Amino acid sequence: MEETWKAVDEYFEEKLKTTDDTMDHILKETDDAGMRQIEVSKAHGKMLYLMAKMVDAKSILEIGTLGGFSTVWLARALPEDGRMATIEADPNHAEVARRNIASAALAAPVDVIEGQALDRLPKLMERGYSRFDLIFIDADKENNVEYLKWALKFSNKGSVIIVDNVVRQGRIIDDTEEKAIPYIRQMFDMLEHDGRIESTAIQTVGQKGYDGFLMGVVK
Ligand code: SAM
Repeated sequence: MEETWKAVDEYFEEKLKTTDDTMDHILKETDDAGMRQIEVSKAHGKMLYLMAKMVDAKSILEIGTLGGFSTVWLARALPEDGRMATIEADPNHAEVARRNIASAALAAPVDVIEGQALDRLPKLMERGYSRFDLIFIDADKENNVEYLKWALKFSNKGSVIIVDNVVRQGRIIDDTEEKAIPYIRQMFDMLEHDGRIESTAIQTVGQKGYDGFLMGVVK
């Protein structure tokens, strides 16, 4: 089945232009730097871009940059007077991401903030950030509840919050040894009772196997 998922993604790649030279270059640079290929899929990257366009985003926050693949997709949706911040704990990843972002000739500035997200999030105000129109959470899954709390603090009515990798081949509902699962479940428990956001989660298959993402709109 996985071969079919990949082939369908390749079909969409051709028909819907879910990649281009810039994005292929970023993937190559990330791979050449020896980083794990844990970025979103091409189709998912373009979906993030389209979501940012749908809400006419002027400000975007990302937690978990890797080589900047999702960063560049998201930042492409920003106008010249827009702004994006992306937080990355690994200095090597941050360096590769900065190079990749520079190569993408984006209209809006992208601030790659190095450090542990939970240290950097409280300091975003000092950097002049107050609210974001779209927030993409894609770092260490163990901190998803805290990231979601921060995302809500940084949201306006209508802000979109997206959290990646919430299905994990279905392990989200299984008893499993995987360390991240109880923490991802805590995030769903929080959403069950939190009245500040309307959300859904979508299961996905494709180049990156079987997983899924959560998306919500802040009330
Ligand atoms: N969003 C990227 C994309 O799709 O192109 C992929 C991000 S990758 C799944 C997760 C990244 O989060 C890694 O680069 C990792 O170093 C970073 N990370 C992990 N824990 C972190 C933390 N506590 N604070 C900030 N970044 C962290």
